[in-house]
Amino acid sequence: MKNTLLENAPSDKKKRPIRCSHCSTTLVVRNGTYPRNDPQNDTEIRVQRYLCKSPECTWHSFSVLPAPLLPVIRHAYEKLFSCYAMIQKGINQATVARKLSLGRGVVKRLKPLCRRFITWLDQERKVTDWGFDPLLFWPDFTRDFSQSFFPERWIKLPSTQHEH
Ligand SMILES: [Zn+2]
Repeated sequence: MKNTLLENAPSDKKKRPIRCSHCSTTLVVRNGTYPRNDPQNDTEIRVQRYLCKSPECTWHSFSVLPAPLLPVIRHAYEKLFSCYAMIQKGINQATVARKLSLGRGVVKRLKPLCRRFITWLDQERKVTDWGFDPLLFWPDFTRDFSQSFFPERWIKLPSTQHEH
C-alpha cells in the first residue's frame, strides 16, 4: 500500500484526517516509517512518515507521532507529569531518579524542561482545541509542542528535506 493518496472527507468524524503539519492540507501520501523507542515499555514503535502533495507547500515531508511519543524528547508524556509532581513536593533528585528509573544527570536536565512544559501546557490548554485532552488530539498537540520547544526545527532552509 505504498503511495496511497489519503483523501479524507471532512465529514468523517470518527477518524481525524492526517494533515500536513506545515500547510494543513489533507493531500498527503504515506512515505514509509522510521523506528522510535517507546520510553514506556522499551519497545520499538514505527512512526509513519508522509509526503505533502500540495503544490503550494514548500515543505516535503512530515511524520505523525503516535501518542504518547513526544517530538525530540525521549521521555514518555506521563513521565513529565510524574517528574513535575515530585519536584513540586520537594523530593530530592536522587529519589526522583530512582522512582523514574532514570540517571541523576538525566533528571537534572529533565527538571527545567518539566517546569517549562507544565507552564506552557497550562497556558496553551486554555486556548487550543487539544486543551481538554492532548491524547485525543495528538498530532495537533505535538505540532504545537514542537513549534514552541524546538522552533529552530521549523525554520525553512532552501532545498532540503525536513522531518518533525
Ligand atoms: Zn504541506
